[in-house]
Amino acid sequence: MSRPHVDVDVAAIEANARTIVELCAGHGIEVMGVTKGAFGLPEVAAAMVRGGVSSLGDSRLEHLEGLRAAGLGVPLALLRPPSWADVERVVDTVDLTFQTELATIERLGSAAGAIGRVHDVIVMVDLGDRREGILPEAMPALTDRVEETPGIRLVGVATNLSCFTGLAPTQENMGQLVELAEAVERRHGRRLTWVSGGSSSALELLSSGAMPSRIDQLRVGEAILLGRETLHHRPWPGTVSNAFVLRAEVVEVRHRPPAPEGLRGDRTFARASEPAGEAGLRALVAVGRADVDVEGLTPLDLGHRILGGTSDYLVVDVSDAEQPVAVGDVASYRLDYGALVSAMGSRSVDVLLAHDGERAHS
Ligand SMILES: *Cc1c(COP(=O)(O)O)cnc(C)c1O
Repeated sequence: MSRPHVDVDVAAIEANARTIVELCAGHGIEVMGVTKGAFGLPEVAAAMVRGGVSSLGDSRLEHLEGLRAAGLGVPLALLRPPSWADVERVVDTVDLTFQTELATIERLGSAAGAIGRVHDVIVMVDLGDRREGILPEAMPALTDRVEETPGIRLVGVATNLSCFTGLAPTQENMGQLVELAEAVERRHGRRLTWVSGGSSSALELLSSGAMPSRIDQLRVGEAILLGRETLHHRPWPGTVSNAFVLRAEVVEVRHRPPAPEGLRGDRTFARASEPAGEAGLRALVAVGRADVDVEGLTPLDLGHRILGGTSDYLVVDVSDAEQPVAVGDVASYRLDYGALVSAMGSRSVDVLLAHDGERAHS
């Protein structure tokens, strides 16, 4: 039996990246390609670079170490504040980090100084999403200290929206970011390189023409990887959604009668989407919760309907399948962001580069 695998179409990722880069370039914005959704796969990062992103960002140091080793020729950024245990590796591996805590910045500065480097830092500010970032009123006090920290150069401010509470990027909150950046510039008498305005959720604001012109960077993952903006998860024009496709084998096909009446206890997987007690033609597909976040899968085979997932199976109703389904067939699924991350990081899911059948990792 073939293992579950993700087919990765690197040409589609490159084309998606080019679409986003050209859109942003028209508004004076550079794109940092965010690779964490693809678990930092260097081939995906390389496709983004060919598509024109000017830097790469990831939340995980191990991914960035892989990208550094791949020698992609663009600056690398760590998006998540690092563990103190990792500061030496961070300053050695990445060019830039996004930071929110002075104590961490000071440790990065000492580690950078120890190897004769200066480490670039962008300070993250929380403009209402309530995930990471300092509060706006704390900005002057923090940047005063950062400016005095040996081994550190403050190169920008950034915010992250739409992630935790789903707050949308608007002309107002982007304007607030610009004002904060300009206040920092006045205070320290120099221009910041980056005013980094957000992620795939900012694309609608950008294309509506309402993005303040001082915003000069977006950090874009999902729109490049999965072809969607993330405010409403609408397909983004000029991008495709099938750069990543999960495939797994059908291991059983059987017509099942309705579930008998009887005493019922808890179900092992209570989140399974439907009790699925009705009759129908069912396929068992050999991929489950132990492999991937099954809630984020959408069948690409017409007429297939996922009834639920257990640790090792998807239970799929194929009564209305357009093509007959047989044991040994391979079923295909589109992934949402959560499913993508889980599949790409899964030890039981192979990753295949679609064009040459090459195995990227297993
Ligand atoms: C993941 C991440 C991004 C990219 O978000 P997408 O929705 O995938 O575009 C941008 N910025 C930060 C800080 C992130 O952690």
